Parts: sequence; C-alpha cells; structure tokens
Amino acid sequence: MPPVSEEIRKKRFNCPTCGEPLDPVDLLRPAGLGGGTLCPKCLDRVVVSFPYSKIVVVISLVLAIGAMLVMRVRSVPWFLVGTVVLWVPISLWLNVYSTRFKNPVLKKWEPRKRKTFFEWLHERDQIRAPEIGDAKKEP
Ligand SMILES: [Zn+2]
Repeated sequence: MPPVSEEIRKKRFNCPTCGEPLDPVDLLRPAGLGGGTLCPKCLDRVVVSFPYSKIVVVISLVLAIGAMLVMRVRSVPWFLVGTVVLWVPISLWLNVYSTRFKNPVLKKWEPRKRKTFFEWLHERDQIRAPEIGDAKKEP
C-alpha cells in the first residue's frame, strides 16, 4: 500500500469559501482527523470529499468480508469485528487510490443532519454488542 499521506499530498485543492488554492498539508486540524479541517486562510471548516466514496464503501466491505473468508474466520463475533477492522483501512486506502482517476474536492463542512456511515456503523455495533452472544442461540 502506498502511504496515504503521500498520495493526498500530491493533490491540490481550492478552498470552497475563499477560493484560495490550498495544499492539503496546510489545512488546520484543530480537533484531530475526526474533527474536520480548517482553511488556513479564512478559517472556514472544510472537508475533503472523495469522488467514489459510495462505491468504495461497497467494494471495501466486499474485500473485508472476502479477507475474513480467506482467513477462515468461523466465529460470528470475530467475523463481524474483523470485517469492520479491515473495512475502515481498506476504504481509506481505496478512497485515496480512487483519487488517481478523479481528484477529490474540498467541500464546505456542514453540521451533519445525518451521521456518517462509519459513525452509524460504530453506534450500531455498540448497541448490538451485548446481543452477539444471543446470536449463537438462533435456531
Ligand atoms: Zn478559505
């Protein structure tokens, strides 16, 4: 796998708010990667939008499940955990890989009305976690 940061670093962006050309390394990250990024010029909050993010989610899920099958993971909880653990880095890498074909764009950050897919997945897992033991009892 090529280093993610190297791939991203080659891309050039324009700030959606002030139009300034931005180098991704100049983006400010006040609250870590999860907290979004700030334009260093106008301090507006921006996010990098990958061109094929929806396809990537599907392909990376298939790859993660495929890897679990190849590794012959038989335990249901470990299968689920392993799939999610692989899913996230695979999708990150595929998103970066997809930028070879189409450049990502910077978009204005908006307060989310909907949760991101991974947040949804994460919370769903937390809710479901106690039920994993029950899953074994099913007929
Ligand atoms: Zn700006």
